[in-house]
Amino acid sequence: MPKITIFRQACKGVDDCGICTFICPKQLFQASEEMNDAGYLPPEYKGERECTGCQNCMIYCPDFAIVVEKDIGDEAPDKGDENEQE
Ligand code: SF4
Ligand code: SF4
Repeated sequence: MPKITIFRQACKGVDDCGICTFICPKQLFQASEEMNDAGYLPPEYKGERECTGCQNCMIYCPDFAIVVEKDIGDEAPDKGDENEQE
């Protein structure tokens, strides 16, 4: 299962942004109840449903506040991985 890391202090808040809450196809983010140092409510990751590892949350977060680390051990590598070989 992919690992999701939220950098709470970098987030501008679900109320003011919230892109992660609607860009996630599994709706795995909701507003946290604890503010960050800037007074914003960052998202909280709800891991109860399966993350697809699509990385939408990481790609679309304007403040680079989410990192998705794919667990490559769970997946077969794609055929012809262009990053690995010439
Ligand atoms: S990687 Fe995709 S499915 Fe997983 S939390 Fe991010 S947007 Fe949702
Ligand atoms: S997309 Fe990024 S900045 Fe916007 S609410 Fe989510 S974590 Fe915060």
